[in-house]
Order: sequence, then structure tokens, then C-alpha cells
Amino acid sequence: MSGQRPEAEAERGDGTSLLGPSVHRRIRQLVLSGELAPGSRLSVPALATRLGVSRSPVREAVQQLIYEGLAVSTPHAGAKVAAVDDERIREVLAVRAVLDGLAAATAATRLTEADLDKLAAVIAAQETNLDDATDAARDAQLDLEFHSFIRDAAGNRCLADELARLEAQAHLYRGDLWCSARNRRVALREHRRILEALESGHPESARIAAEAHVHGLMTRLTRH
Ligand SMILES: [Zn+2]
Repeated sequence: MSGQRPEAEAERGDGTSLLGPSVHRRIRQLVLSGELAPGSRLSVPALATRLGVSRSPVREAVQQLIYEGLAVSTPHAGAKVAAVDDERIREVLAVRAVLDGLAAATAATRLTEADLDKLAAVIAAQETNLDDATDAARDAQLDLEFHSFIRDAAGNRCLADELARLEAQAHLYRGDLWCSARNRRVALREHRRILEALESGHPESARIAAEAHVHGLMTRLTRH
């Protein structure tokens, strides 16, 4: 793995380029929403046709998905959407709890009032979206936005890269559990606690709230 992130330069912070949502962003959405289910083939020609673009950006996007842990390359069948099983989700969340705690603790002393307002806006959007149980893609996107904002605010590129991969992989696991109304409501409550801790500016409170959220996810996603 080269560690290169194709298209990263061309994207704005919200994953769009000046030409509109990037090909990577669009395929990523298909994966995270479950439209391209774990295990399904990521055929470059088929995706290029589906999105109405040439093969080259699709090929780059698939490489980036592999880098992000959302896809795996197989010897003879090309790339497939990664499958996250019960054991893998436990491993992912165990590491994510620690790193999310670190990100929140670091961000606690760095976030401005404007940043905190933006985080509050993401939470408000999640609340609005809560009544629409069918919009799993929007739900996943808002959760990722909330966490990516905090990890970016922490200002540690290495930490942000690792967390981006772990968060995306976590969303590949059991979409039905992620989007149950009850689980979303509890997750939203945990997000509010994280925001409150960040507003207090206390690193230790932020760490505890962020870790509690991931431990909560672990319980909710693995108790079946
Ligand atoms: Zn969350």
C-alpha cells in the first residue's frame, strides 16, 4: 500500500470538489449506505457506467476505498466492499474507543466557539433526521461528520487518518443495527454529552464522554 490518497487534494473538507461531489465521495456513499453491500464486487467498468464517468477516476476512488479499509482487493476478482464480521467490529471499536478519547481530549482545548456551534448544528441535523428511519445514508453521513470534525480539530494527522479508517469500517457492520431508531436516539444522547464536555473545555471529561460513546456502540452493535 502506497499510503497515497488519490483525490485528497481535489476535495474540500466536505468531500466535494469544485466540480461537485467527487467520484470517490459518491462510491463511498453507496458503500456506507449499504447500496453496495459488504462482499459485493467493485467493478470499475460497471461503476463508471452507473455514475456516468470515465474509468480512471473510478479506479482511483476504488484505490482510496482500499486505503480507507472500506474495500479489499482480491487476487482474481478485483476489489470488493470489505466485510466486517463480529470479531472485526470488536477489534475496530476497542481501538476506536481509545483513539476517539484521545481526539476528544485534544480537541477540548482547541475548539473555538464557532467550532462548537458547528458541532451543535450537526447534532441538530441528526435530531431532525431521527424521525426518518429510512434515511440510513444521511444518518451515517452525519455521524461521520460529527466525529471527523472532532478528530480534525485535534490537529493530529496520524490520529485523524487512523480514526477515519476505523469509523468507516465500523459503519460497514450491520447497517440494520446502526439505523434502528432506538440505537440512533441513544447515540445522539451520547453525542450531546461529548459536545457538553467539549464546551466545558476539560480534556478528561471529553475523553470519558468520547470513550463512553464508543463503548456504548460496542454494546449496542454486538449484543445480538
Ligand atoms: Zn457517533
